[in-house]
Amino acid sequence: MSFKWSTRSIQITCPECGCTEEYSVDNIDVDSEPEENSDYKMGPTYRHIARIYWHCPSCDRDFEAEIEFIEYPEGQCECVNIVEGALLAGYSEDSLMSMVDFSLD
Ligand SMILES: [Zn+2]
Repeated sequence: MSFKWSTRSIQITCPECGCTEEYSVDNIDVDSEPEENSDYKMGPTYRHIARIYWHCPSCDRDFEAEIEFIEYPEGQCECVNIVEGALLAGYSEDSLMSMVDFSLD
């Protein structure tokens, strides 16, 4: 259930001024936790929450993004939910799913 990016950076787009920045995935906080009341047949489900805190150097404002990755069964990303996506204008939930690979070891 360890969280693994298959990309080195994601592109952030400022929702205010539109400037962009390549943001290293090393700077993204990820909290991983088992899904409490999962009664799935193929083992536990894990929820990985990735949070990005970003300060726009152009318009001097702070922004956050939050992405939820659901791992089920173990080693596979079942789905992605963009919880707070103002910074992620260039991405869809499908394109974010291709940026993780929980089966890497
Ligand atoms: Zn800005």
